[in-house]
Amino acid sequence: MRIAILALQGAFMEHEQMLERLGVSFFEVRQRKDIEQAFDGLIIPGGESTVQGKLLRELDLFESLKMKIADGVPVFGTCAGLLLLAKEIKNDDRLHFAVMNITAIRNAYGRQLGSFYTESEFKGIGKIPMTFIRAPYIEAVYANTEVLATVNGKIVAARENNILVTAFHPELNRDLSVHRYFMEMIKECGTIHL
Ligand code: GLN
Repeated sequence: MRIAILALQGAFMEHEQMLERLGVSFFEVRQRKDIEQAFDGLIIPGGESTVQGKLLRELDLFESLKMKIADGVPVFGTCAGLLLLAKEIKNDDRLHFAVMNITAIRNAYGRQLGSFYTESEFKGIGKIPMTFIRAPYIEAVYANTEVLATVNGKIVAARENNILVTAFHPELNRDLSVHRYFMEMIKECGTIHL
């Protein structure tokens, strides 16, 4: 199995460390030629969704990655990655891949609760650590989207077919279970190697 990690901006190195600990091979996506090689899954890290969205377009990565995701390549978006995948962002007109049937709210926790840590249930895993940094949450899910975790009544993790998103950053804690969950999801979706 080989994972592509979008490495334009944000917390991509932390995802790499998680995959290293899991013994899963990966490579960084920084330019067009990087995605000419085969991969079984894609990770979109946290950071700034607007910056990543702009760079994806400028570097001519946007259309090919969007097509791969629409074709069923498993993708895991954390925080800004969630925003890049959402079909609707309530407080931002700029949409990006817009492939997942969720309505997200950007910087949803306001200034005071901008960043926080908690532990909560993740469906199929149990209680896990969750670190939020100027995070979005999901206001509503549609179609095939399944809610996987909530914190204080707000949806913070969801899955729709080949797409997994978390509003929090599992890569910033020691716990590997969400990354493991994504690896299982890839196996379920079948090895694609596009
Ligand atoms: N606030 C960022 C955004 O709107 C997301 C924050 C994060 O990825 N930690 O894109």
